[in-house]
Amino acid sequence: MQYCKICIQTDTRPGISFSEDGICSACDYRSKKFPKIDWTERQKQLQEIVDWAKENSRGGYDCVIGISGGKDSTFQALYAKEQLRLNVLLVNVAPDNITEVGRQNLENLVQKGFDLVSFRPNPIVMSNLTRKSFYEYGNPVKPSEYPLYAVPYQTAMMYKAPLIIWGENVAITLGVTKLGISGDALNVLGHNTLEGIETKDYWLQDVLTLTDLLPYKFPDVSELKKNHRAIYLNYYVREWGWKNNTDFSVARGLEGRVDRPELTARIGPYNSVDGDIQIVNQMIKYYKLGFGFVTDEVCYYIREGLMSRNEAINLAKKYDGKCGDQYIDEFCKYINITVEEFWTNIDKHVNKKLFYKDISSKWVPKFEVGEDF
Ligand SMILES: [Zn+2]
Repeated sequence: MQYCKICIQTDTRPGISFSEDGICSACDYRSKKFPKIDWTERQKQLQEIVDWAKENSRGGYDCVIGISGGKDSTFQALYAKEQLRLNVLLVNVAPDNITEVGRQNLENLVQKGFDLVSFRPNPIVMSNLTRKSFYEYGNPVKPSEYPLYAVPYQTAMMYKAPLIIWGENVAITLGVTKLGISGDALNVLGHNTLEGIETKDYWLQDVLTLTDLLPYKFPDVSELKKNHRAIYLNYYVREWGWKNNTDFSVARGLEGRVDRPELTARIGPYNSVDGDIQIVNQMIKYYKLGFGFVTDEVCYYIREGLMSRNEAINLAKKYDGKCGDQYIDEFCKYINITVEEFWTNIDKHVNKKLFYKDISSKWVPKFEVGEDF
């Protein structure tokens, strides 16, 4: 396992690439390409897209934005409304077991003056798919990510809104290079976490039918391209960033989690506030890839010049891999398995090159955070 020399991203992240001098693609972008970007030119390109959207708005709405009510979507929605002067239709795909603070944040955003389409995928289907994905991939959130992307596209087509605005292209922020650094979001099918969306047979095993999967299905991209465009805002807008979006949204009423990092394995209180399943998923990710959400978080901080690499290493050491028992209990209840069955399945997915089981049957890292292994 190799660590980036600037941040502490590892080469175990799917899709990541490293330069010969040991710099990850996200840091390479931030240190070399980002300072040279002509933002006036990017704003011009964005304005052209906005003008196009207004001219081609056949149903009244210029654009659709899929939102959770979190820091990024609050910034996105208000930027589109206030700066770009677009007539925005918001779409929220509600997660199962939404948190109270998640509900408040969504309400806070809508109260700024938006129309909102609220979509709730069938919870029985979602729970089935989640269980399947947990066992097969060791990834309980994969199914819930499909409707987050698919439903805003479906809604844009339904309401004839020409533009779909997404937040960040992860090729830029995480360095998942195969997506390509571009503002065009119709390449989203190349997104790693969405791979397999067309392998219907797999998801259709057991009790599910094709119609159960409608919210999980992307519209045909060639069909979409006839009347729609989709963009990543972070490609066009200089101020997009972890700190900027957080400060902006908190100033406009965004609320954070109150639970502690020892339980949530995240430092900032403003990440994935609408559901707890992400906390479980990040713990599993830690056992699979050797890093969890704190690593992701501190890498953003390092690149934005807010944290030293040493400080980042200490935080990742301290919190990555943690997960409060209550979140595991809640998750097990949700997919109808016992806590024992949960851990038996985790055992299967742990990366045994990176972890060993100690005498108390706990998985312990063989590696030291920040040191190539
Ligand atoms: Zn890096």
